Amino acid sequence: MFGYPDFRGSQRDIIEHVIEGGDALVLMPTGGGKSLCYQIPALVRPGTGVVISPLIALMQDQVDALRTAGVRANFLNSTQDMEERRIVEAEFVNGELDLLYVAPEGLGVPNTQRLLDRGKISLFAIDEAHCVSQWGHDFRPDYLNLSMLHERWPDVPRIALTATATSATREEIATRLQLTGARHFTQSFDRPNIQYRIAPKNEPRRQLLDLLRAEHPGDAGIIYCLSRASVEKTAEFLSQNGIPALPYHAGLDSRVRAANQSRFLREEGLVMVATIAFGMGIDKPDVRFVAHLDLPKSVEGYYQETGRAGRDGAPSTAWLAYGLQDVVQQRKMIESSDGDAAHRRNAAKHLDAMLALCETVSCRRAQLLAYFGQRADTACGNCDTCLTPPESWDGTVAAQKLLSTVLRLQRERGQKFGAGQSIDILVGKQTEKVMQFRHDELKVFGIGTDLRDQEWRGVVRQLLAAGYLAVEGEYGTLVLTDTSSDVLRGEVKVMMRREAPQQKTRAPRARG
Ligand code: ADP
Ligand code: ZN
Repeated sequence: MFGYPDFRGSQRDIIEHVIEGGDALVLMPTGGGKSLCYQIPALVRPGTGVVISPLIALMQDQVDALRTAGVRANFLNSTQDMEERRIVEAEFVNGELDLLYVAPEGLGVPNTQRLLDRGKISLFAIDEAHCVSQWGHDFRPDYLNLSMLHERWPDVPRIALTATATSATREEIATRLQLTGARHFTQSFDRPNIQYRIAPKNEPRRQLLDLLRAEHPGDAGIIYCLSRASVEKTAEFLSQNGIPALPYHAGLDSRVRAANQSRFLREEGLVMVATIAFGMGIDKPDVRFVAHLDLPKSVEGYYQETGRAGRDGAPSTAWLAYGLQDVVQQRKMIESSDGDAAHRRNAAKHLDAMLALCETVSCRRAQLLAYFGQRADTACGNCDTCLTPPESWDGTVAAQKLLSTVLRLQRERGQKFGAGQSIDILVGKQTEKVMQFRHDELKVFGIGTDLRDQEWRGVVRQLLAAGYLAVEGEYGTLVLTDTSSDVLRGEVKVMMRREAPQQKTRAPRARG
């Protein structure tokens, strides 16, 4: 039916288990071939396989692809009118469908439930099952209702699938979906063909352009930015520099978005510049690079987004530019979010894990896999820290100087400032703002000339990542934390990652 010579990974085991009527919880990396795990059982078992998927925008494409392969598939979602729905409903009731895709919100509607009672269901497939996790990065409230499937249709086997789950999320999926008796199938999360690289952010667009020109000319790729404005600007910048790039974000007209998405899928060598609104369920095998111009909020998000590179198994790059401003901005966003204290703590935990990945001096892949509960015994040889091991240095004294500056500003002046002012004070710059506040009279003025600005920014970033320093308020002012005094008193040693010297990405020092 699908034309593949063989199964991949654990597909065969999963498929046999589900055909026999067993429940399953499937963890497989993006591109691993999850769809087949429910599509084949749905073809083999009598009745229609009902697939719950949050990816409404992709249902038409998925159904078209299945029909081309000769599978009788259709979908029900909010984009259809009455007439279209009636046709699909009739097909289902008459047993003319192998697969029926529905949106999770649709299943909450009594009409849909009654409809499902009128046909024969061969299985339920719950795609992107991590959306049920309230602590994850993709929570969809409608997923919580899916425990209803088991209550209403106890005899129908269920298969839940996800590419993203720590062991905690896995437990949560099993509990919330009442999949406690399900067999777990976990496939390695390693994507050996993806080279992970995390670089200090200086001039991100310029750095990106250099990377694409040097290593990915003519390749298709995805570039993630945090804001819509930055998406637009980056797409424009690349286009002006001869790299065909399209923007994608939730603020664009839905027709423009759909058109850009389908061009990206069908044409060769296009670069999609997008917010994280783009990508879930996108099946383009030859994405050669995924670049992040802003820090992802969690390791799960980072893994999922970078996982869209290299589905065909060929060498691909995951490149992230990360700087002090990212930490300040993300901490600020968490602080000002409207979730309750537990949610904020959870978001902070996610961010901390992401920062630890950025600042690690050991193998990125090993750290990534460890986060998902998999041990890697050796360094991978295919990430930036393996290829060019970063030097670490004893940054304790530098940390003390920086923290003393923050402390003195607060104690002696009752003032709080951002990183920029503190660094100016340390390196003894007589800027207008320094003179205005008479910060040149502070005892710490000029005690940090041993490091360059850039290195001081690295110090601040790493202190923030380690929690020895915090930012607060709208302007991202630096404040001490409970553990700052440990550093100030010399009770802990602070090892730091040396900023790699800038290669070829250094821009002429023309602009001020
Ligand atoms: P996932 O949902 O896990 O991200 P998909 O189900 O979309 O992955 O499959 C990823 C790609 O792998 C698709 O292009 C699919 O056609 C292909 N694929 C899946 N199973 C096989 C197989 N057994 N042999 C060859 N290609 C496969
Ligand atoms: Zn490595």
